Amino acid sequence: MAGCDGIVYDSHNPAVVTAAPDSGKAVVLTFDDGPGKYLTEILDILKQEDVPAMFFWQSRLLYPDRPWKRVLEEGHLIGSHSVRHPDMTRLSYSEQLAELQRSSDRLTEVTGIRPVYFRPPFGQFNDSTLHAAASLELRTVMWRIASLDWELKNRPDDIIKNVTENLEDGAIILLHELAQTVQALPGLIREIKRKGYRFVLLPSPPS
Ligand SMILES: [Zn+2]
Repeated sequence: MAGCDGIVYDSHNPAVVTAAPDSGKAVVLTFDDGPGKYLTEILDILKQEDVPAMFFWQSRLLYPDRPWKRVLEEGHLIGSHSVRHPDMTRLSYSEQLAELQRSSDRLTEVTGIRPVYFRPPFGQFNDSTLHAAASLELRTVMWRIASLDWELKNRPDDIIKNVTENLEDGAIILLHELAQTVQALPGLIREIKRKGYRFVLLPSPPS
C-alpha cells in the first residue's frame, strides 16, 4: 500500500476512514496490537487526562482476564485488528473473511459488544479486505497521523513531535500498546490539548 510508510497518510479511498467526521478541532487516539502488558498503564493515563480512545485488538490476545471491562466502563471503544495479525493482502478473499469473522465473533463472545470498526494489520489492505469487512458490517479504519512509535524506542519526544506537528481537524492518530508510547502519552495528550484540540471517538454505530 503506497502512502502508509510516512507520518501523514493520504487515502483517496472513500471506503477507508482516516478522520472523525464533522468533529471540529478534535482528534482520535487509537492504540493497536493489544490487549497487552502496557494496557493498564495506558488506561491510567487516559483516565487521569479524561481522554477517550479506540483500541484495535488482536482477538488471539483477548483472554477473559484482560481488563476489557475497564476499557468499556471508562468510555473507550474496542475494534478488531484481526485474529493473529496477518498481512491481509497475502490472503485470499475467503481467508480474509474468515479472519475477520473469527475476530469479530471472539470480541463479541468476550465483551458482549460486536465491533463496528476494523484496522488492517500493518495498514495493508486490498479490495478483498474492504469487501470482506463491509460484508461483516465493519468499517475499515486507517489513520491520518502515524506516530511511528514502533520505531522510536526510548524516544518519546520524537513520538510527540511526529503527532503534534501534523495535527488537523478530525485526524485519527496511530499509536501502539508499547513501553515508549506509555512514556510519551502524558506529554502527547498535554501538547494536543495545549494546541486547542479535544479528543473524540469515531461514532458508534458508524455514521
Ligand atoms: Zn498491528
